[in-house]
Amino acid sequence: MKAGAYGHGVLPIARAAIEAGAYCLAVATVDEGVELRLGGIDAPILLLSQPMFDEIPRILDNRLITMVSDIDYAEALNRQAAAAGLIIPVHLKVDTGMGRMGCPTSSAPDLARCIAGCTALKYDGTATHFASSDSARPDDIAYTRQQLERFHQVLNDIRALGLDPGIVHAANSGAVLLHPDSWFDMVRPGILLYGYNAVSEACPFPVQPVMELRSNIVFIKQVKKGESLSYGRTWQAPHDTVAAVIPAGYADGLPRLASNRWQVLINDRLYPLTGNICMDQCLADLGPETTVKRWDEVSLFGGKAPDAAKLAATIGTIPYEITCNINKRVPRVYIE
Ligand SMILES: *Cc1c(COP(=O)(O)O)cnc(C)c1O
Repeated sequence: MKAGAYGHGVLPIARAAIEAGAYCLAVATVDEGVELRLGGIDAPILLLSQPMFDEIPRILDNRLITMVSDIDYAEALNRQAAAAGLIIPVHLKVDTGMGRMGCPTSSAPDLARCIAGCTALKYDGTATHFASSDSARPDDIAYTRQQLERFHQVLNDIRALGLDPGIVHAANSGAVLLHPDSWFDMVRPGILLYGYNAVSEACPFPVQPVMELRSNIVFIKQVKKGESLSYGRTWQAPHDTVAAVIPAGYADGLPRLASNRWQVLINDRLYPLTGNICMDQCLADLGPETTVKRWDEVSLFGGKAPDAAKLAATIGTIPYEITCNINKRVPRVYIE
């Protein structure tokens, strides 16, 4: 559910996920967890990223389950939970090769022993995260296999101490699709839930992008050969034509890098975006003989238009960045 459910709007997506059987929801920040609680979500909420220590009171108040990567944080949580008279579940996070959060594999047993010894903490889970599980390149497959082996070793070391690692989880979308042996007790798919095939291979089960960005034409204008459109005059009409102004820009999350490189769908036909995308508006070239009218609906991506993954590929990024960047000011409409 992090980043407003990857830009889709967190509460309706959270409710749909729980209705579909999700056991636990994951967020990146304490604020995101609080937003779910204020929205009436009662399911377990897992905080994936490392918070600031001064956020611990809100973690306790909102019953967030945190990942713990180091002894300092475990002890700070323990102190504050004990002072509040609580026993809170935590998950141990180990870095098997992602190179971000998580304790080194060699210190995982010490951290597990520390957590298990904290009277106000319940050692409830053990997790790792993959760096390139979405790639089927042989070297990436080998790297993921190595991460998995290290994770198994860590789990063995923890069990050898007589400790129960709790809910074991590792798989993001790429690993859900390409590495069934990494599923353990729980999986953490993100982008896959929103309908993007996270891997370059054919998706073993059909998914369809959830998000469509729509607008309506608010202004139509005649453009003479040689006239330019928008900031920087990056596009000049090669002949007399008609242009449409669409009230969606980079502040809405339409990437400015798509200027002069993307097409939008109007009445089942694609038209090029022309000139630089502005903060709040963009323009499409309708051609000289157009039947398109003011107020006609425009699909900027998704739906019957090329989707966010295609747009991402066109401008050299990933669909995550496209959907997460759709600004809060864009109204979300949910269609069953
Ligand atoms: C974002 C995130 C995921 C989900 O990743 P996807 O690639 O969207 O499936 C899983 N685990 C952690 C720790 C994450 O930060």
